[in-house]
Amino acid sequence: MIIVMKQRSSDDDLKRVVDLAKSFNFETNISKGAEKTIIGIIGDNVYERKEAFEALNCVEEVIPVLKPFKLVSREFHPEKSVIEVENEKIGEGFQFIAGPCSVESKGQMEREAEFLSNLGIKFLRGGAFKPRTSPYAFQGLGIDGLKILKDVGEKYDMKIVSEMMAPEDISIFEEYVDVIQVGTRNMQNYRLLEQLGHSTKPVLLKRGFMSTIEEWLLAAEYLYYHGNSQIILCERGIRTFEKYTRNTLDISAVPLVRILSHLPIIVDLSHATGRRDLISPLAKAVVAVNADGVMIEVHENPEKALSDGQQSLNFEEFASTYEMSMDLVKTMEGI
Ligand code: PEP
Ligand code: MN
Repeated sequence: MIIVMKQRSSDDDLKRVVDLAKSFNFETNISKGAEKTIIGIIGDNVYERKEAFEALNCVEEVIPVLKPFKLVSREFHPEKSVIEVENEKIGEGFQFIAGPCSVESKGQMEREAEFLSNLGIKFLRGGAFKPRTSPYAFQGLGIDGLKILKDVGEKYDMKIVSEMMAPEDISIFEEYVDVIQVGTRNMQNYRLLEQLGHSTKPVLLKRGFMSTIEEWLLAAEYLYYHGNSQIILCERGIRTFEKYTRNTLDISAVPLVRILSHLPIIVDLSHATGRRDLISPLAKAVVAVNADGVMIEVHENPEKALSDGQQSLNFEEFASTYEMSMDLVKTMEGI
């Protein structure tokens, strides 16, 4: 249930609502917007107490949230959220997150970061702990990979995005990474989500490849509920019967999530189809549906990449996809 406060309500008014909620053993979550302050009331059968809240002078309106996710819903936070990663923003303008599937060596990361930062890319991705389907496949450089990412990120003034798989790794990720990625296979790892809920780092939450949008938003709700509202959603394709592509890009997820949630949403075009020849055409679709950005795997030599070379762009392909996308972004802004 959501309490909309009257305009110009004071901190004492907020406390009155919070205290009333506490007296019923409900939890609260306050969201102060430019126009309105909203308090989310969470607990069993909250709506049965609607009248007690309506009786408070400072309360403008009490709105039931019938959806299973509350804090990430549009009702709770009518304005779109913008996630700030130091001086960079996701949720305002169109951001690129680019870099190799895996960190392979310091030299490789240096060359790729130099190329990307020269183009103006601000977010560098790279996996250090890799969730590989086969135990025989390259598993990543682990903590050494995170150290490389941090050094290279500092040198080229780029924010680092990397996937964390295990809750016990939280302190090393907080030290080395700017945005912590939750991969598709871990979207429903609730211990991991709870741990990240206690973190101050923004989380990039990929959609599970077998998950519905509701399950995905409920995973985001876990993060929010445990205290972390810095969430970026990432559509990365879902499993269907189609075999020409690794996954099927659910482009409808972008406008749908926009309606349902205030969180920013980007699209990972490499994992979405598993094919480099589909990245550029689909980048147009991603811009057209007004996503907040895109993630693309880029490698100096995709044929030699230790993972996901088939869905990575080389430098030339990436530069042309980037320029084409940014031209389209400008055209869209003028519409
Ligand atoms: C990745 O981004 O490196 C990755 C493994 O992605 P996903 O979890 O979407 O498969
Ligand atoms: Mn990959």
